[in-house]
Amino acid sequence: MPISRRDFLRTGTSAIAAYPAMMALGMLRTAPAHAFDLEGSGAGKHVLILGAGLAGMAAAYELGKLGYRCTILEARTRAGGRVFSVRKGSTNRETGAAAQTAAFDDGQYFNAGPSRIPHHHELTLHYCKELGIPLQVYNNINEATYYFSEGKGPLSNKKVRVREIHNDVRGYTAELLAKAIDQGKVDAELTKEDTQKIIEFLRAEGGLDIDKLYKASDRRGFIEHPGAGNKSGSIANPHKLADIISSGLMDPDFYNVAEYAYELQMTMFQAVGGMDTIAKAFEKKVGKDVRFGCEVKSIQNQAEGVSVTYKDKTGEKQITADLCICTIPLTVLSNIEHNFSPDVSRAIDFVPYMQTGKIGLQFKRRFWEEDEQIYGGITHTNNELAQLFYPSYDYLGKKGILIGYYNFNERAKKMGDLDFAQRQQLALEKGSLIHPQYKQEFETGFSVCWQKTEYSLGGWALYTAAARKASYTALQQPDKQVYFAGEHMTYLNAWMAGAFESARKTVADIHARVTAQRVAYPATSSIV
Ligand SMILES: Cc1cc2nc3c(=O)[nH]c(=O)nc-3n(C[C@H](O)[C@H](O)[C@H](O)COP(=O)(O)OP(=O)(O)OC[C@H]3O[C@@H](n4cnc5c(N)ncnc54)[C@H](O)[C@@H]3O)c2cc1C
Repeated sequence: MPISRRDFLRTGTSAIAAYPAMMALGMLRTAPAHAFDLEGSGAGKHVLILGAGLAGMAAAYELGKLGYRCTILEARTRAGGRVFSVRKGSTNRETGAAAQTAAFDDGQYFNAGPSRIPHHHELTLHYCKELGIPLQVYNNINEATYYFSEGKGPLSNKKVRVREIHNDVRGYTAELLAKAIDQGKVDAELTKEDTQKIIEFLRAEGGLDIDKLYKASDRRGFIEHPGAGNKSGSIANPHKLADIISSGLMDPDFYNVAEYAYELQMTMFQAVGGMDTIAKAFEKKVGKDVRFGCEVKSIQNQAEGVSVTYKDKTGEKQITADLCICTIPLTVLSNIEHNFSPDVSRAIDFVPYMQTGKIGLQFKRRFWEEDEQIYGGITHTNNELAQLFYPSYDYLGKKGILIGYYNFNERAKKMGDLDFAQRQQLALEKGSLIHPQYKQEFETGFSVCWQKTEYSLGGWALYTAAARKASYTALQQPDKQVYFAGEHMTYLNAWMAGAFESARKTVADIHARVTAQRVAYPATSSIV
C-alpha cells in the first residue's frame, strides 16, 4: 500500500528501514554514484588545459571545485571535440577539403561521434546525473534488422532478418550438440543426469522439437502474421545451414558476438536530443574559462611552469601557467612543437589511431519503421557500409536520419578517401540494395571521416600490445609540468568514460602534487 509522507513520519520507523522509504518519498537526495571528494585547496594555482573535449572540460570542472584557476585553449569554435552531434548548420573540416555544412531539417540530428552509453559506465552516468542531462534508452540490439551479404550463396544479395539467421543458427548448433551428447561423442565427464539437463537446455535454447531436431519456430518470425478469425499465422521453413554458410552469413562481418561484448550489452543509453548535450552541460559549467578558436602551436616546459604558444584569428599569442593538462589527441599532438623528453616524444608519435567514419542520411519518411517495423538497432553488411544504424529517438515521427554507414579500418580508409559527394553516392547506391525506398525518400546527407577531421585525426587510440607497454607507460607520468589526459590515457579507448576517468585521475595527480597529499585515485584523499 502506498504510504503518505505524513503517515511515514508518524510511524517513526527505524532509521535503517526508513532510508529506502525516504528516498522513495523524495525526502533524501540520492548520494552521488561517484563522489570525488578531495581535500585541500588549489587556490592560487593556474592550470592551463589544452582541448575543450570531455577530458579537458571535466578536468576544469573538478579543478574549479577545488579552487584552481583554469584556462582552456580550444582550437575549434565549439566545445566537445569528438562529441559531435550533426544538426542543421553544423560544420566539419577535413584535410584537403572545404568545410562541409549540414542541411538537415530543424530537430533532426545524428551523432557522428559517440552515440551509446553502456549501463556500467558509471562515471559517464554520474556526470549525466550531476549535470542534469536527461537520458533515454538506446536500442542497440534489434532482431528485426537485417543481414545483407554481397556474395554468391543463395542467401546473398538479399536482405535477411537477423532473427531468421540467429534462430536458425542457434537451432542447428543446438541440434548438432544435442545429438553428439546423446550419442556420447562429447569428450566431457557428464553424469547421466547432467547429460539429460544439458539436452533439455539445448532443446529450449535452440527451439528443438521432441526428437531434438531443429524445424523452425515462430522465433524466426512469420510470413503471415496471426490475426482474427481463422488467421493462425504461418512461419517459413528454416534456411538450410549449408546456404547460411555458403552465403557468408557465418563470417566475421555477421557474428552476433559483437552484441555479447561487455560494452554493447543492453541496457544502453543516449542523451536526449543528441550526445552533444553532455558537452554543452560541461560548457555551461566551465565555458567562461574556454578560449575558442585558439590552436596550440607549441608547448614548452619552463624551469617553473609552462609556456604555450597558440594562434587565434588575430595572430600568435603566448600564455603561461603553473601546470598544464594536454588532452590533444596524440595524432594531432605529434605535429605540435614541444620540449618533452625523448621517451614522451617517441610515445606521442607511436600510438596508432582507428580509422572510422559515419554518414547521416535524412529521409522524407521513416520507411524503415513504416514499411519494415525496424525501430532502432543495426543492419550488418559485408560491403563498404559495414553497419547501418536506425535512430533510437522520435519513433513513429515523420522524417528521420539513419546512419548510412559506420565503418572501420580499411573500409573506413577507402570511404574516407572519397570526396563528400562520392561517399554519399556510394552510401545511397549500396544502401538502396537493402532499402529501395532510399531512391524516393532521400533528402540530404553529411559524412565525417575521423582520420581526416581537423583536430582529431583519428577515431580513438588503438593500442597494440607494444604501444601499450612502451608509449602508454611513458605518457602516464607528467613531463615536468605537463600532464597527459584523454581517452588515449586509459583502457577505455573509444568511450567517453575514458575521457572522464582520465580527467579525474589527472586532477587527483595534480592535486596530490600541489597539496603534498597522497591521493589514490579513485579513492578520496588524506593529507599527510
Ligand atoms: C566515431 C566515434 C564513435 C564513438 N562512439 C562512442 C560511443 O558510442 N560511446 C562513447 O562513450 N564514446 C564513443 N566514442 C569515444 C568518445 O567520443 C571519446 O572517447 C571522447 O569524446 C574523447 O574525449 P577527449 O576529451 O579525450 O578527446 P577529444 O574529444 O578529441 O578532445 C580533444 C580536444 O582538443 C582539441 N584540440 C585538438 N588539437 C588542438 C590544438 N592544436 N589546440 C587546441 N585544441 C586542440 C580538439 O578540438 C578537442 O576539442 C566515439 C568516438 C568516435 C570518433
